[in-house]
Amino acid sequence: MEIVARLQEVRERIAQAETRAGRKPGGVQLLAVSKTFPASAVREAYHAGQRLFGENRLQEALEKMPQLPSDASWHLIGPLQRNKIRKAVESGVSLIEAVDSLRTAETISRIAGESNKTVSLLMEVNIDGEGSKHGFAPADLYAAWEQLMALPHLEIRGLMCIPAPVSDAQQARPSFAALRELAERLRVRGGLPMPVLSMGMSHDYEVAVEEGATEVRVGSFIFGDRTYPTVLS
Ligand SMILES: *Cc1c(COP(=O)(O)O)cnc(C)c1O
Repeated sequence: MEIVARLQEVRERIAQAETRAGRKPGGVQLLAVSKTFPASAVREAYHAGQRLFGENRLQEALEKMPQLPSDASWHLIGPLQRNKIRKAVESGVSLIEAVDSLRTAETISRIAGESNKTVSLLMEVNIDGEGSKHGFAPADLYAAWEQLMALPHLEIRGLMCIPAPVSDAQQARPSFAALRELAERLRVRGGLPMPVLSMGMSHDYEVAVEEGATEVRVGSFIFGDRTYPTVLS
């Protein structure tokens, strides 16, 4: 199948999942995850109407961004190394999705402040408590919340997660529900609107939408199998 047909299929399935969940269709952003794929593939998606793209590595994003029209927007979804923070803030990506420590958030805020910017970001949550994974433990995010909210040059737009691998997408449902509930608790506590829940990938995005995702990150279903592995955060 071609990229254009796959995009169409994902959009339809998202709308169906919204309807099943009693949500109004149109409330979910599709992030086309283009990591490892060439700019030509991204342009193909662009010509099929897709405008929002996700890259895992900053360097790869910086290489592709100038090769697409300027109304494409880009989210950085991979872990951000501390020595790349300045570059990320200056890169023109519209959302940094995988902020996983107070220290990183503080550094982003400080660097953004130097050029009078506000940086939009999501907090990554290690929702299943996996030892090897990036992300805040839910309790740690809750504990750090006041300090995070006080950082002046950040707009914390919401939460993202990558659940533990499962064989059946339905098994990820409790993890998605847990992220939604954590976001609700943080909203009540802080009064920040935090409208974004970034959850769901190629194999489980429909379940994520049923559980309240406002953004799904779909890569291989749209672009095909990646020929070399990338490390998930
Ligand atoms: C690669 C990646 C995706 C997309 O995964 P697919 O299974 O190809 O849809 C989503 N989120 C993150 C953080 C990723 O690194």
